Amino acid sequence: MKMLMLLLSVVLLLSLTSCDFLETLAQKQAETTVSDNGTTAPPNGETTAPSDGEVTSSTPSVDKPEDCEGHDFGEWIELEAPSCVADGVKKHICRNCEYEERRVISGENKHTYSTNNKCILCEREIIASAGLVYKEVDDGYEVSGYDGNLPTEVVIAPYYNGKPVVGIGSMAFVLCRTPLISIEIPSGVTSIGDMAFYGCESLTNVIIGDGVMNIDNYAFAGCTSLTSITIPNGMMGIGEGVFSGCTSLTDIKISDSVTSIGKGVFSSCANLTSIIVDAGNTVYHSAGNCLIETESKILLFGCKSSIIPNDGSVTRIGEFAFYGFNILTDIVIPDSVTRIDDSAISWSSLTSVYYGGTAEDWSKISIGDVTYKLFGTDYIYYYTEIEPTEDGNYWHYVDGVPTKW
Ligand SMILES: [Zn+2]
Ligand SMILES: [Zn+2]
Repeated sequence: MKMLMLLLSVVLLLSLTSCDFLETLAQKQAETTVSDNGTTAPPNGETTAPSDGEVTSSTPSVDKPEDCEGHDFGEWIELEAPSCVADGVKKHICRNCEYEERRVISGENKHTYSTNNKCILCEREIIASAGLVYKEVDDGYEVSGYDGNLPTEVVIAPYYNGKPVVGIGSMAFVLCRTPLISIEIPSGVTSIGDMAFYGCESLTNVIIGDGVMNIDNYAFAGCTSLTSITIPNGMMGIGEGVFSGCTSLTDIKISDSVTSIGKGVFSSCANLTSIIVDAGNTVYHSAGNCLIETESKILLFGCKSSIIPNDGSVTRIGEFAFYGFNILTDIVIPDSVTRIDDSAISWSSLTSVYYGGTAEDWSKISIGDVTYKLFGTDYIYYYTEIEPTEDGNYWHYVDGVPTKW
């Protein structure tokens, strides 16, 4: 199994860069039956299903030319839809050489429930936790709260009273009185309301169904036990401060479908070290563990392991981008930055700002409220490659590490 996974990784790596090796490898691979490739990412934008448990199986197209400058795959086309009893299949084709790559879409958890919450294909049944309170809405029901003591592991079923459960209402589980540890949200739920799980300090595990399109403001704020969360493919909007104060959160992966992210979404997530945006996202990208709005060049969010890219892709540090990290002592700001927004960088332990330009360049930067007050110019160090002759705050790199002269 390990060998297969290794082979798959190699195939995927090569498919990004070269067509030459690929044909041979793809032929080899086509002879092999594979059942699981873990978490290997696809070489191009993933649009139809989560990558977990997916498998590649490549077959060279009939008319493949001798060489290809590098595959440029088109959109995935679903050939067979996955279900809980059979995996699906999709393909994408190289625009240059017509090389065709096929991928199995895992059918895991792709159940089709009828109104009695039983899967019509495999008979799996979901029994909703007792104590949930429902409110009728336009297209079904939303879970609006709970009554009495909930179990620590809460299950929301796809249907209630014969109608689909389509949402989790505002403040439904706010400051949960019971120690809610895990919750499973069915795929029919399309939205999670404002502050729905605000302050649920025991909440560790959230399975967000792949139908959720929007998570509203502060929905998971203050969930201090939450360590990781997967934003499903298809989700479009993440509201303001949704994960703020989630102090156990270490990594976040944002799918390519997300086109709207509110401010301060990860404020005060003191242990966040990894921010990754899927390569297919056209609005946002990640670099150096920074979340960047690509076109506007605004750094929306950073974490304690962020390195702000100095290739010109960031010109502005957005509101609350580095807010509430009391464990950070320094930051490097490249000279491409011309604007630092209100409260963009504010933490009490900050002692050094390493700026990539001169004092004159720094004075031209527009700096918002709060940020400015906490900075104080004593903290700012200006870049110079050659040892300065006059007094003042200067820095340079020594073996890649910002160092004061
Ligand atoms: Zn090609
Ligand atoms: Zn099923």
